[in-house]
Amino acid sequence: MPYRTIHINPTLTNQARRSVLVIYTGGTFGMVYDRGAGQLIPFDFERVLDRLPELGRLDFAITLLTLNDIIDSSNMKPAVWVELAQIIQQNYDLYDSFVILHGTDTMSYTASALSFMLVGLSKPVILTGAQLPIGVARSDARENFITALEIAAAVDSVAVDSAAVESTGQPIVPEVCVYFNSSLLRGNRSTKRESVQFNAFVSENYPHLATAGVSIDYNRPFILPYRPDQTLSLRTVLDPNVTILKLFPGITQSVVESIVTSPNLRAIVLETFGAGNAPTDPWFLGTLKAAIDRGVLVFNVSQCQGGRVTQGQYQTSRQLLQIGVISGADITTEAAVTKLMVLLGQESERSETAVKRLQTLLAQPQSGEMSE
Ligand code: ASP
Repeated sequence: MPYRTIHINPTLTNQARRSVLVIYTGGTFGMVYDRGAGQLIPFDFERVLDRLPELGRLDFAITLLTLNDIIDSSNMKPAVWVELAQIIQQNYDLYDSFVILHGTDTMSYTASALSFMLVGLSKPVILTGAQLPIGVARSDARENFITALEIAAAVDSVAVDSAAVESTGQPIVPEVCVYFNSSLLRGNRSTKRESVQFNAFVSENYPHLATAGVSIDYNRPFILPYRPDQTLSLRTVLDPNVTILKLFPGITQSVVESIVTSPNLRAIVLETFGAGNAPTDPWFLGTLKAAIDRGVLVFNVSQCQGGRVTQGQYQTSRQLLQIGVISGADITTEAAVTKLMVLLGQESERSETAVKRLQTLLAQPQSGEMSE
């Protein structure tokens, strides 16, 4: 079924200089209160101008595309990530940038997945959403959406003389980001940390890329460089045969064994304590080693939001290093899971050399998701 789209042209300028494609996927953002039913229901996005008339006052053209299945992001799946990546690729030459309206619950997973799927990206892809529906008076939807659009459309400028600047036409943020509550975060460094307050997202291990106040201040040294020489290509095969094994004191052998021996499992994100530490019980290390010997990748990610895994710092992580667990350094769980899905999707071979190749790629940053 073709997508429903609406076009909003700036009312204040005759000719729009930039164009943004907005992809609406669902989430709290687009809910309104249905008095009759007494509940929140998705609003008709084609009537977005009734809710946000200021969209027409921005000086760039906006096209709004609605996915055919509007979802709560708890129902997000790799197939939808593929659909989003394909929409971006099909429209890549037609628009200067992209904004994705998304539920907050899994926004960091989607942002992380897209950062690994959109290879050679040199245009902004900004995800945003809201904690309160657009139909509620105190909603954060309006500010999040309008500022995300402005960031997506923002271009660099150079001074031509002491009194004038000229646009270079180059996007300021040519990468996948999450914009929320005045902060722009690298998408694959973000995590949802809050379900009630407006400051829903955090990026503990990487500086914010911009802060929006009276002006939008960009943290330029930390933004990926603009690379117009790159051509966009997609990685659209994702392998979901990964799992997260979160450790806790008292975890039993039968629980660990049942997870580690799940049929078809190819990779485990091992959520460890502190700087990457785990129990040293022989049964625990033995179960992990047996999995690694079968070709399962084990990726060590800390349960702490801030800081990094340093395998070998403590005795409780040295043995993980010795049995072949790969350090996730300062990666988030969201980025670790999606990086594995994407990398495994590229490698259908199950040989020892294929596993070695994957181990090498996993340990290296692919799109700014971890620091070396
Ligand atoms: N459950 C919603 C979702 O993620 C929550 C939100 O949008 O904030 O789709």
